[in-house]
Amino acid sequence: MQLDILTLAYIIGSVTFILGLKMLSNPLSARKGNLIAAGGMSIAIFSTIFLYETEDGQGLHNYVWIFSGLIIGSIVGTLAAKKVKMTAMPEMVSMFNGMGGACAALISAVEFDHVYREFRLDSNSFAAVVPFGHYFTISAGAIIGGVSFAGSMIAWGKLNGRIKDFTFKGQHIVNLLVFGFILVVAGLTYWSNTSVTNIWFLVTILTALVYGVMFVLPIGGADMPVVISLLNSFTGVAAACGGFLYNNKVMLTGGILVGAAGTLLTILMCKAMNRSLMNVLVGSFGTHAVAAGGAAKQAGSYKEISVTDAAMLMSYAKKVFIVPGYGLAVAQAQHTCHELEKLLEEKGVEVKYAIHPVAGRMPGHMNVLLAEADVSYDKLLEMENANDEFKSTDVVLILGANDVVNPAAKNDPSSPIYGMPILEVEQAKTVIVNKRSMKPGYAGIENDLFYQPKTSMLFGDAKAALQKLITEIKNI
Ligand code: NDP
Repeated sequence: MQLDILTLAYIIGSVTFILGLKMLSNPLSARKGNLIAAGGMSIAIFSTIFLYETEDGQGLHNYVWIFSGLIIGSIVGTLAAKKVKMTAMPEMVSMFNGMGGACAALISAVEFDHVYREFRLDSNSFAAVVPFGHYFTISAGAIIGGVSFAGSMIAWGKLNGRIKDFTFKGQHIVNLLVFGFILVVAGLTYWSNTSVTNIWFLVTILTALVYGVMFVLPIGGADMPVVISLLNSFTGVAAACGGFLYNNKVMLTGGILVGAAGTLLTILMCKAMNRSLMNVLVGSFGTHAVAAGGAAKQAGSYKEISVTDAAMLMSYAKKVFIVPGYGLAVAQAQHTCHELEKLLEEKGVEVKYAIHPVAGRMPGHMNVLLAEADVSYDKLLEMENANDEFKSTDVVLILGANDVVNPAAKNDPSSPIYGMPILEVEQAKTVIVNKRSMKPGYAGIENDLFYQPKTSMLFGDAKAALQKLITEIKNI
């Protein structure tokens, strides 16, 4: 009977996880989706703690350890999530993902110890007594979880500036050799005498940690979101291995979903940047100004616009598009931006937002930022729809965006971003670009849009510029 209730709890956990994931795809339902998935997972976790039957038939009894871990983890997690700034979100995701990888590796280590104690005295090698499939799952969980943990920690360090990029000639070859070494040692663990099996297993885990560090070290700091997403899928697969080991359905479902979602997200991000995953992993793009053709060349003279003139233009426009970018997130200007939008609408101006899929530094960055400021979701247009509407737009106001509006992606085959889909803002009648200087964005390349006749620069921090615009518009 107890087992039945446990199975039911696992089904509820799995279903709510799938439902929650589906609801996360829309900002309106995302918060609810998160809560539903967390609720289902809590049911699964507490059911396991109280209903799981161990081999000795006693159930779990080390409650002090279990609840100490749960309470400490919950407090640390809640405080971290409440404190984190939107721009620091990728590093927090990375840290949490690393913890997931470590958990999966530890589960494998515990199961290895379990099997090792059982068979050490009876046999010459694991191969003689432990089915290969079982050992493979233990080993895969330990290796993938270890790589994910170490890689995520390096990604975390890079994103908060504590760890610098590190590359040397032939690094990718060395990485391949280390990876090959892991496979050899994992094989030795299975086929060698049980007197040394535990040592080989330890070496396997340690080498996986080294590989995780070396895998992420050369990747450009700004490419980290893509790598984090990839590591996230690794953690999912490692957790699914744990699900296999303990025949735990909810862990299996959760792991597979995380693995699949992470893989899809990685592919989508690469696609939106028009780069292959290999280019992200090997390319070191975004760590330094790119010296290729079309990059960092001075494209001519630009013109500035005063706050008063910008306010006039927007107040008398019929339709205004706002293009948010990384700079808006840095300036934390989302609330001020929403204020400007409401003020313009009071004056009869139609205001919409154009959202590029990789604007900012993490997937959905702009959607989350604007939702936080209560911007209505139906005002956010995805890139394709926004591009259809720019022709009938009077003013496009770009707030701290750069690469996602760079026409070189369409016009300059020598540009490193050539082929990346962009917001075609130059189709609008007037373009106002707010940023602090003429410095390039993440890709490190010059933007020809800033020098076009219909473009005017409104220099300054996004929040300060918006506040000045609001004051001016109120006086019109
Ligand atoms: P960019 O990095 O291209 O440009 C941001 C601009 O914001 C800069 O040029 C900077 O100019 C300006 N800025 C910075 N701080 C402020 C401020 N306080 N006020 C006003 N402006 C400011 O950002 P985009 O959003 O246009 O493009 C995102 C880039 O990130 C793309 O290249 C994308 O490929 C990449 N990327 C995105 C990921 C994602 O998932 N979203 C993941 C990985 C990479 P200045 O210094 O002159 O102010």
